[in-house]
Amino acid sequence: MRAPLETLTDRLARTRDAVRAAGVDAMLLTPSPDLRYLLGVAATSHERLTCLVLPADGDPALVVPRLERPGLDGTPVAELGLQVADWTDADDPYRLVADLLPGRLGRVALGDAMPASHVLRLRDALPDGEQVLASPVLRELRMRKDTAEIEALAEAAATIDRVHARMGEWLAPGRTEAAAGAGITAGIVEEGHTEAAFVIVGSGPHGASPHHDVSDRVLARGDVVVVDIGGPTAAGYHSDCTRTYTIGEPGADDVAATYAVLQAAQDAAVAAVRPGATAAQVDAAAREPITEAGFGDHFIHRTGHGIGLEVHEEPYMMGGNDLVLEPGMAFSVEPGIYLPGRWGARIEDIVVVTADGVRRLNNRPRALTALPA
Ligand code: ZN
Ligand code: ZN
Ligand code: ZN
Repeated sequence: MRAPLETLTDRLARTRDAVRAAGVDAMLLTPSPDLRYLLGVAATSHERLTCLVLPADGDPALVVPRLERPGLDGTPVAELGLQVADWTDADDPYRLVADLLPGRLGRVALGDAMPASHVLRLRDALPDGEQVLASPVLRELRMRKDTAEIEALAEAAATIDRVHARMGEWLAPGRTEAAAGAGITAGIVEEGHTEAAFVIVGSGPHGASPHHDVSDRVLARGDVVVVDIGGPTAAGYHSDCTRTYTIGEPGADDVAATYAVLQAAQDAAVAAVRPGATAAQVDAAAREPITEAGFGDHFIHRTGHGIGLEVHEEPYMMGGNDLVLEPGMAFSVEPGIYLPGRWGARIEDIVVVTADGVRRLNNRPRALTALPA
């Protein structure tokens, strides 16, 4: 599902307001999630410059290599009424950007992940402009998801929920994490994502490493297995969901009680999500029951991260972040307990702040799930 044209028009207008409010004279964005957010297309042009030029005063324009221009046909760019300025390999595209801007520039905001090859040439072409990051301008917009984005995230979450529902096809004794991961990767695409962005299968002691990948470790009866998976939809919005499984009954006798602490912590953190609560309060709500039960030192990461066109984006649910939650903010709630050398567990759902509380986008059962051994 693509963002409606009115939504994109509105985002561009609000971005210009934000550019002005930030005291920036122009914002320049090359292909990135920021550009996709504003134009609805995942433009790429490799080493050649594609650049959205957003002056504080004046109309936005898109600089594109001429050979990429046909690729814009049928995209919202045509309908948005943007001026498109194309260039050939004999032209200087950085000069073209400068010509689209007023002569005297104070601050110029550049997309955070713009390649240095463009940053330095833009600095040469705009010698008066002080280069600053675009994220302080854009974060306020991108953090608050509009209706089209929330529906895209809900579609992504439903897709990854269907993959978790099939986990018994892939996790079985005698199979390696890598073999299970290959099956899961295929399943993520079969269920509707365009690709698997990441597949973590952390079995036994590997589950105690939150960002484990997959390995040649062979799954065995009694293993606890952390499965953290996600991918993008065609519109570019991501899923990210963790469930913890056991191969048959858990082999260690502390698994059930420890997992119960984790599940209570995840529930408490989700229950703390509402407009007016702070990100730090959500983190504390997850951390308190875990600390109370004596596992505080084994919950070794923040409680959650924002999600959208990027898997990790603002807002971050962590101690010290006094950001006040508002309707439309979407993020993960993913406490974990990690016992080095033994096993680990994590429960992760994507949630959205609503007008009066919270909506969970992932809805698979959260209890420890025993698969046939
Ligand atoms: Zn992570
Ligand atoms: Zn995850
Ligand atoms: Zn996550």
